Amino acid sequence: MLKLDKVQSGYGNKLAIKNISLEINEGEIITLIGANGAGKSTTLMTICGVIPCRSGKITFQGKEIQTMDPDQIVKLGICQVPEGRHIFPQLTVKENLDMGAFLRKDKDGIKKDMEYVYSLFPILAERRNQDGGNLSGGEQQMLAMSRALMARPKVLLLDEPSMGLAPLVIKQIFEIIRQINKESNTTIFLVEQNANQALHIADRGYVMETGEITLTGSAKELLANKEIQKAYLGI
Ligand code: ATP
Repeated sequence: MLKLDKVQSGYGNKLAIKNISLEINEGEIITLIGANGAGKSTTLMTICGVIPCRSGKITFQGKEIQTMDPDQIVKLGICQVPEGRHIFPQLTVKENLDMGAFLRKDKDGIKKDMEYVYSLFPILAERRNQDGGNLSGGEQQMLAMSRALMARPKVLLLDEPSMGLAPLVIKQIFEIIRQINKESNTTIFLVEQNANQALHIADRGYVMETGEITLTGSAKELLANKEIQKAYLGI
């Protein structure tokens, strides 16, 4: 569904990702794990067209997208929940969700999807008229994910959804990622430093170190890999 072929991008004269190749099939949950600064966020932002792809190819459903603008990429069905959420703090929960549906015209579909995200996260339904900035970190993460779902993505790119959240909230967020994947057949590309949680919900994973993919395999294989256990799972 989404394929990166020898993709490079970076900042100024520095390459932050070097010759990255990976594939995500429809319906999968794929995780990209790696330490701080490995290049995970840069990979997501390059897919979304926020950071220009300097070389290589990014293909989505057979179409090359590496030269497209971010709004064209969203229209195709690729939507990112950025690291740090970036919700609109002065807009209400409902208004944040409306912003997610900005490019859509199907009023009935939008209403249905709003009911769906409220069913996933009942706390957001309760707080629909409160400003986004008054929500807790976990609720803001829920809102950022819901806002992305309002664009009805085919692929949801999640950047560190667990960052800064309490263990119980993390558990809830990861369960809902799995639920979104199963119920709405949304393909998920999950970037995480929390390798243990991510590999427990993923089908397959890629490991990134200093801008390069160094290992790939099924989530089961990666969880059983001694080097991964030592470097990322604290075992
Ligand atoms: P983290 O978990 O900390 O977000 P990451 O794996 O997502 O890490 P990136 O944020 O993609 O890593 O960073 C990859 C490299 O690019 C790092 O060396 C980082 O310092 C550098 N980098 C990231 N953003 C910028 C920027 N705006 N300008 C210059 N260099 C940057």
